[in-house]
Amino acid sequence: MSEITTIGIVGAGQMGTGIAHVCSLGGYDVLVSDLSQERLDASRTRMSQNMARQASKGAIAQADADAAMKRIQFSTELGQMAHADLVIEAATEDEKVKRAIFADLQSVMNKDAFLATNTSSLSVTRLAASTDRPERFIGLHFMNPVPVMKLVELIRGIQTNEATYEMAKGLVDRLEKTHATAEDFPAFIVNRILMPMINEAVYALYEGVGTVESIDRAMRLGANHPMGPLELADFVGLDTCLAVMRVLHEELADTKYRPCPLLVKYVEAGWLGRKADRGFYDYRGETPVPTR
Ligand code: NAD
Repeated sequence: MSEITTIGIVGAGQMGTGIAHVCSLGGYDVLVSDLSQERLDASRTRMSQNMARQASKGAIAQADADAAMKRIQFSTELGQMAHADLVIEAATEDEKVKRAIFADLQSVMNKDAFLATNTSSLSVTRLAASTDRPERFIGLHFMNPVPVMKLVELIRGIQTNEATYEMAKGLVDRLEKTHATAEDFPAFIVNRILMPMINEAVYALYEGVGTVESIDRAMRLGANHPMGPLELADFVGLDTCLAVMRVLHEELADTKYRPCPLLVKYVEAGWLGRKADRGFYDYRGETPVPTR
């Protein structure tokens, strides 16, 4: 298979919706699948709102947004993926869920089609091995929010062949994004570096080295980061930060990755960051207020 014209996306949550958005604007025909019609309807609504926002800012033409929305089909039927040249799995971060999707997909997908996963932390090699096409399987790790973030990490499992890697590079180019290639080790590149930094910021808070505000201000103005690490942790979700630290700690078996007990405590409290209205900051009022 040389040319990709139709891309299937399984899982229409925040990432699947964003990936469908950029693929359709990139001129591909897109097939989106999720468990329920409600989730697909929510995905379509969010996507058209996001495109309208981009058009109102002049980032894209309204006519291109309209044409892109027409190139997308939403269906709960996985059978539609028979028409896809590439399927990108962007479902819940749970290995059992992903494996079940791959098993269902291989009975409907064209035998020459490529398969990719957007996993943030699971082993691409292990996921690839569970499919009927490990050599045509690759990690395509988009960043959140997909329409805004320029990077896509490409992760080759040890079985991934050169044609699959070239296909993935071509796709990233056509989406006008940039790739960084990562070997298949826990958390790849971005999260391997970012999450320990966030975890260290939580240790600095835990040990009283600084307050929430002074830690964030120090890193914004002293290291030129656009967001402080604790603000960023709230944006990502503290449960996600903790999950990635646990993967690093367990799979690399090095104590330098131990999750900070204060991060664990925030997650246990349900203070997960912006999505829960409270994390290192409290977002329930007009302006965010530090919680420590
Ligand atoms: P999400 O919870 O917003 O969306 C997941 C979607 O998958 C849901 O709509 C759910 O209904 C659907 N789903 C679950 N089981 C399914 C099945 N059997 N068939 C079809 N759809 C199914 O999650 P998300 O944030 O979009 O994350 C999706 C993937 O992207 C995960 O692997 C995650 O690790 C990865 N990722 C997330 C981020 C992030 O910042 N959120 C960044 C990069 C990668």
